[in-house]
Parts: sequence; C-alpha cells; structure tokens
Amino acid sequence: MVICSNCKKFPSVIELRYSREFLCRRCFSRLFEKRVRKTIRVNHLLNQNDKVAVGLSGGKDSVTLLKILHKLSERAPKSKLIAISVDEGIHGYREKTLKIAKKICKELKVEHYVYTFKKEIGMTLDQMMKKSVAKRSPPACSFCGVFRRKILNEAARELKANKLATGHNLDDEIQVTLMNFIRGDFDRIARMGPEVGIIKDKKFIPRIKPLRECPEREVAIYAILNGFKADGLQCPYAGEALRTTIRDVINEIEEKHPGSKFQMLKTTDRLIEILREQYKTDKKINECKNCGELTSRELCKACGIMKELNLT
Ligand code: SF4
Ligand code: ZN
Ligand code: ZN
Repeated sequence: MVICSNCKKFPSVIELRYSREFLCRRCFSRLFEKRVRKTIRVNHLLNQNDKVAVGLSGGKDSVTLLKILHKLSERAPKSKLIAISVDEGIHGYREKTLKIAKKICKELKVEHYVYTFKKEIGMTLDQMMKKSVAKRSPPACSFCGVFRRKILNEAARELKANKLATGHNLDDEIQVTLMNFIRGDFDRIARMGPEVGIIKDKKFIPRIKPLRECPEREVAIYAILNGFKADGLQCPYAGEALRTTIRDVINEIEEKHPGSKFQMLKTTDRLIEILREQYKTDKKINECKNCGELTSRELCKACGIMKELNLT
C-alpha cells in the first residue's frame, strides 16, 4: 500500500506521474476541484448571476461537471443551474446514459430537459446512419456532433440560459486540436478554447468548458470516487474515427513522457490566440438561409447534412 504523498496519512488511490505524486481520495478530490475552480476563475467562465445549462449526456465527464458546478452554485445563490440532455437515438446505449442523467438531476434537484434528434431533426442517429452508410458518408460522430451542438445551442437559448457548460476534458481538447491540425482546419482551432467561439451574437450561447484542464483519466477516477457507475457504457459508433488513433498516439506519448498532455494544451492555447487575431479580421458571419443559425457559409453544417439526407 502506498501512502498519500501530500497528507502522508491515507492510502493513495491514484498515481500522478507528471508530478510524481501518489494521492489519497481526499487530496486527489481537492486537487481536482481546485483545478476546475482555477480554470473557471482564470478564464472568467462564470458570474454570480449566470443561468448555466449543463450539456448532460450521462457519461462520466458531464456527470462530474454537473456535480462540481452544483457544488459551486451553492456559493452563488443568484445563479441557476439546469441540465439539458440530447437523445440522439442510439439504440442500446443512450437509454442507459439518460437514466443516469435523470437520476443525478433528481438527486441534486436540478431541472432536467431532454431534447431528441427524432423531434428536432426528424430522424434518430441510427436512422441517419442507415441512410448514410449506403452513400459512404462520414462516420456517425461527425453527424452526431453537428446536430448535438445545434440542439444544445437552441435549447439553451429557448430555456434562457446565458452559458452552456460542456464536459470536454483535457484529452478531448488536445485530440480535437490534432485532428484539426491534420485536416489543416485552422478556422476550427481558432474557435476552440475555454469559452468557445469568436462570435459574439445573442443567437450564440457561449459554451464553457470548466474541465478542459483535467486529464480524462482523472475525470474518470473522480467520477468513480463520487459514486459514478459506468458499467461498460460505450457508444456503438465510438472507435471508428481518426480520433481513436490520435487518442492512442497521445496516450503513448504521455506514457513515455509524463506531462506532455498539459504541454500540448498550453501549445494549443498559444495557437488559438495567434489564430484568433488572424480570423478576427478575416471571417464574415452569416445567418443560415434555412434555419437562421449563425454560420460562415450560406447553409449551416446541420442544414447541409439535412439536405444531403433529404430531410428538408
Ligand atoms: Fe455521438 Fe460519436 Fe459520441 Fe457516439 S461516440 S455519442 S456517435 S459523438
Ligand atoms: Zn492525502
Ligand atoms: Zn441551418
């Protein structure tokens, strides 16, 4: 049994190789929560009277985020916290995570709203995939992400939230940076960061990512220590994308060179700053001809896909 390197009292539950520490349950939870509070403070993500909508999938990241924001909201009596889940219609998977989402909202007494692909888009993700596979369209995650972002933004606006918090962790952030880097999509890198978007428009609810400095492994351990039971939940569409390869490569780098993930995030943030300067002057924002959402093209991405699937 290894004793906690910080308090020197309790058995450790985690080894942090990047700082050469073993931490007990209490010291680790404190460190984790402190890191999230620091991300919020340094990036001015929250104000005392915010109405924050948490995008709650029911997975470990969003459940952890809701729990931490709920704790913080107790110190800000004028703020309000609600949760929005999107049911994409992924058979055998989403029903289970929605059950977790519902349960946690009930426990914390947080209002919970569920929006479905079926109602908002006219088709479940499963149905979309049946249609698109024949046409050799991109993997499910590209459809899923585009529609989920659109629905979350519309729902947050409808529910009069002024911030939309998502559970993206450090691994998510650097994986997306590398994917965009490989694709040469600098425009997208410029739109990343702790508060998403270079667009300031009332139609766009700012998306904040309080967990973006927390490694995925630590989010998972924090979630388990706080009663989260994953029970092998895995989206059947996960693992088909370039992202899986990138995740493995980054994990291998971290394994051989602990601390690399934090370094990659720092580099990402420097890159975002540089690119935002450039895109500030270059980019023109339009309203989508079909749905009125903000986009840099004529049709927003969601409407483009819907057209492709004959849904408009
Ligand atoms: Fe959607 Fe892909 Fe996540 Fe599954 S793994 S929920 S398809 S984004
Ligand atoms: Zn300790
Ligand atoms: Zn549109």
